Parts: sequence; structure tokens; C-alpha cells
Amino acid sequence: MNLNTSFGAQELCRPLLAEIDRLAARSAPAGPIRLMEVCGTHTVAIFRHGIRSLLPPQVQLLSGPGCPVCVTPAGHIDLCVQAAKQDGVVVATFGDLLRVPGSHGSLADARARGEAQVEMVYSPMDALALARRRPELQVVFPAIGFETTAPAIAATVLAAQAAAVENFSIIPLAKTMPAVLVELLKDRDLNLSGLLCPGHVSAITGTAMYEALVQEYGLCCAVTGFEPADLLAGILSLLQQQATGQPQVANCYPRVVDEAGNPRARNLLERVFEPVDSEWRGLGSIPASGLGLRPAYRRFNAVHRLGLEARILREPPGCRCGQILKGRLQPPDCPLYGRVCTPLAPVGPCMVSSEGSCAAWYRYSGHTI
Ligand code: SF4
Repeated sequence: MNLNTSFGAQELCRPLLAEIDRLAARSAPAGPIRLMEVCGTHTVAIFRHGIRSLLPPQVQLLSGPGCPVCVTPAGHIDLCVQAAKQDGVVVATFGDLLRVPGSHGSLADARARGEAQVEMVYSPMDALALARRRPELQVVFPAIGFETTAPAIAATVLAAQAAAVENFSIIPLAKTMPAVLVELLKDRDLNLSGLLCPGHVSAITGTAMYEALVQEYGLCCAVTGFEPADLLAGILSLLQQQATGQPQVANCYPRVVDEAGNPRARNLLERVFEPVDSEWRGLGSIPASGLGLRPAYRRFNAVHRLGLEARILREPPGCRCGQILKGRLQPPDCPLYGRVCTPLAPVGPCMVSSEGSCAAWYRYSGHTI
């Protein structure tokens, strides 16, 4: 338990925990209450604040497919490595992506072997700035992320077009939330009682996006933030909805999220991207779950510009990331966890990304990194 790290956390959290205990005890005969947090930042916050250890045993938290690096399949990492190996091309990427293994290693491995040019950047605009500083290079930005990151990528494509920057392009790999959630809910074996909906994504999309999950699947939903009291308020809301038999979309993060979301960011997305089928690690191809460039912006697509070829690849032997991202397994269920696969020697993406379930589980389970 680590509630002392947040100002006022204990005073706010104690009554929430007492009510969670009471409702969980009432529903105990019905078996475990399985709740999924969809967001990688939620996963890390839950571990950092020791939330799992505070909950009664019948309330089970599962991690879902909400870490953008983790859901990127090996074949898409290979696209980035292919680009970085071409003469006169530099891949400018977020640090998390550097060490994610593709079928022949990661971007960092290819750079270490002297086969690839790779630069770390903190934003897509940094990648565009690099392109303007180095006109002799083709700068490629792997556009990985969800609705939270994608508006900044869209704004960068528009800026590149406005400034007629010809040596900047993206590998369009961004994904969106609603379709993957529906895909998860089709798996009745998961037996989910409720969803802790991602606070960051919801700030862009608004809460209305989740209404279909309530109407069509009877799922309890709570949008929540990242402080201990936010997380507990979300969990309590899900238990209350379940107890009353009235699923709904509860907004437990109203200081950041509203029903409509951020129309300006959504307009950027709408203007630059269109829905396309997308491959998810462990989940396969999901219709209309990705963001492709609209025809007006196709010249910024590095896949066409550089002739990159995508292949569908299996996960590294023994890696269970796919099952973990679907909530079917927990990291210690993977035979490689902690023995072969550690943050220093990751086998799969869930151990690489700071928001990956395996990395969070490892870091907060008393291991030394
Ligand atoms: Fe994959 Fe490593 Fe996680 Fe196992 S512990 S599922 S190998 S990332």
C-alpha cells in the first residue's frame, strides 16, 4: 500500500475502500467480480499505488490492450526496422519503441549493429523539426498511439504539408479504442463485469463512445483518472452499477473528461485520418480499428514512399503477450516471466514499455531492475 504518496489520499480513499468492501461482500456468493483496466497508464498507477492489495479478494483487476507499444505486432516493428535500414533514411521515434523486438530484433539492435539510423524524439513535431534541419535525410516517424497521441500526429502532418516539407513521412500505425473493446466483449469466457475506461483517451473522445458497450453488451463502464482516489472511485462505481443491475457510463473523472470530449482534437483526427483495418498483437486484424492517412495526405505515408512490406508474424516463442493483452493471463502465468524475460532483457513488448503489464508487474513486485 502506498497511499501516502498522494496528497490527501488516505482521507479520500478510506471511505471508498470501506464501501468497496461492503459491496464486494454482498456480491461474494456470485463469484469473482472481474474488472478490466484498459489503459496502460492505469495499469502502472494501480501497481504504483498498491491498489490491488487494497481490494477484497473477490474483486479482480485485469489489464487490457491499452498500451500502444504492447499491441503493436512484430510485423509492424519490422516495418520500422526496414525503413531505418534504407540509405538516407532516419527513423525518429519515441524511446519506448526502440527496444520492442521485431522478428529480427529491435530498432535499437539494428542501430547497435550499425545497420540502421534511429533517433529518439519526444514528439512528432520533433521529428518534423529534424526533417527541416536535415534536408538530405528522409525522416520517418512511426505513428504509434491511440486517440490521445494521434491528434498531435495529425497536426504534424498538416504542418509538414503547410511548410511543403518533402522529406518527412509517417508509418501510420495508430489505433483507436472502440472496436478493440467490442472485440474483447465478444469473448464471453472473459466474463467481464466492468470496464475502467481510459481517462486520457476519453478526454479526446468523450464518454459517449462507451454508450454502445452499455446498450449492446450490458457492460458497466467508469471513466476514471490516475490518482488513488480516482481509481477507487471508478472501481466503486462499477460495483455500484453491478449491485443495482443498472450498467451505465459513469464519469468519475469530470475534472478532465466530459461527454463531448475535445472537438478540436477530433477534427484534426477526422481531417487527416480515416478508419482502416488494423493488426493487433494477440488479437489479429480488427476492422476499422486503425487510422490510415486520407488520400489527400498519402504522400506522407512512408510505407508507399519507401516501398515497405508488412508481414504478419507470430509472437516470439513462449511469449504470452497476446493472452495477457486480452486479459486471459497475468504476467506470472508466462513461463518466461522473470526468468528469461526481464526489463533488461525483454522478450515481448509487454516487458519493454513502461506501461506494459509485465514491466509494471515486475517493477512493483520487489524485483531489482
Ligand atoms: Fe512476453 Fe515477457 Fe510478458 Fe512473457 S513476461 S508475456 S515473454 S513480455
